[in-house]
Amino acid sequence: MMAPAQTMTSRVGFGYDVHRFEETHDTDQNTQIMLCGIAIDHDQAVIAHSDGDVGLHALTDAILGAIGDGDIGTHFPPSDEKWRHASSDLFLIDACRRLAENSGKLVNCDITIIAEAPKVLPHRNAMLEKLAELTGLDQNAVSVKATTSEGM
Ligand code: MG
Repeated sequence: MMAPAQTMTSRVGFGYDVHRFEETHDTDQNTQIMLCGIAIDHDQAVIAHSDGDVGLHALTDAILGAIGDGDIGTHFPPSDEKWRHASSDLFLIDACRRLAENSGKLVNCDITIIAEAPKVLPHRNAMLEKLAELTGLDQNAVSVKATTSEGM
């Protein structure tokens, strides 16, 4: 007797996100930005409805894209006050839940951060740990890369 054929489909999703920096005028204030779930000291804040974490927003959109379930704005509209200053962890966890409900399994994620500053390298391991924790992936299946755009 033959075992039933198993069908498995691989899907790929892409995410992209941009947030603008704003100058902070209170020099005494310790400004932080969120990047891949990690709080990083920076001299500028990010303009955003939520915590403005471009890494988590792009990954959330990539997962939603792979399962054809809208995008981050569909599920967490910036017009909804509920998501003001929301931790983007929530968005990624929700996308992973939707993926699981669609019988999907994340096998890896690969994030590229394009920014002149802050430097990503000192925070990279913390980011990998956080992404692994949020997605349930092994750390070796998580990648964070960074580049500047050469000041353009
Ligand atoms: Mg965003």
